[in-house]
Amino acid sequence: MTAMSNRFRKMGKRISFVPTMGFLHEGHLALMREGRRLGDKLVLSIFVNPTQFGPGEDFKTYPRDFNRDCALAEKAGVDILFTPDARDLYVKGSETYLHQEKLPGHLCGLSRQGHFNGVMTIVAKLFNIVVPHFAVFGEKDFQQLAVIRRMTKDLNFDIQIVGHPTVREPDGLAMSSRNSKLTPAQRDAALSLITSLRNARRSVKNKQTDSNQLIDKATELIQSYPETKIDYIKICDPETLDDVSNIDRPVLMALAVKVGKTRLIDNMILTPDS
Ligand code: AMP
Repeated sequence: MTAMSNRFRKMGKRISFVPTMGFLHEGHLALMREGRRLGDKLVLSIFVNPTQFGPGEDFKTYPRDFNRDCALAEKAGVDILFTPDARDLYVKGSETYLHQEKLPGHLCGLSRQGHFNGVMTIVAKLFNIVVPHFAVFGEKDFQQLAVIRRMTKDLNFDIQIVGHPTVREPDGLAMSSRNSKLTPAQRDAALSLITSLRNARRSVKNKQTDSNQLIDKATELIQSYPETKIDYIKICDPETLDDVSNIDRPVLMALAVKVGKTRLIDNMILTPDS
């Protein structure tokens, strides 16, 4: 992979990189289109990274369909599909992991201990192997994007990190590989995430600025659906991810909810009218 990148670089080509865990959907494809727009060569990686899953999480059952992904990648104009093997990336004796001080102490980092250490470690390794000019990440994983932007600055990677808005199903559900695991009833319940975010956005426009009230309303709606279990609903500063109690500037509303056994996340920026 690195030899290919070096060759591209010598030819003066700009390399875009989209890292994924596969089971590709329209969200991934949008990131790839953005990658194509930015650079001359597009690298897509598919790797279900074991170190970002905790014990009892869905590493083993994470959806996978390599043949379908290959066909989609080819159609999307991917130049290199990089699908490393875990035994090659984490060679025997590996013991070095990245750690970040503050950002992982919020949102998903609280219930998924060690998750962002795994994410940062794999992304840094992939950055070193792929040596891209641009790397595109989805805003659906807002905290991941924040952690990676920070890591890129802190470790002096010469890579431009590009965020892409969340791609949704026509009814608003944020696209996710994990949606494939939802039963029809669970999928219906899953819509309560985007409905809660949209309700909050409307409330903020109507000058309701108390975060707790908005969180209470969202909690009530989500809990009214069977099989839902809220992990968190937070209104926070989009940069530091610290809680914000009074919405007097753009804030991030982020939530994580288990629907049956499937953990879903979503988020939205809420902007008060000035
Ligand atoms: P994943 O395969 O779920 O690890 O995601 C790979 C990349 O695709 C990450 O940068 C995600 O944030 C991004 N992504 C996943 N779902 C969406 C979506 N619905 N809209 C935009 N980006 C997404």
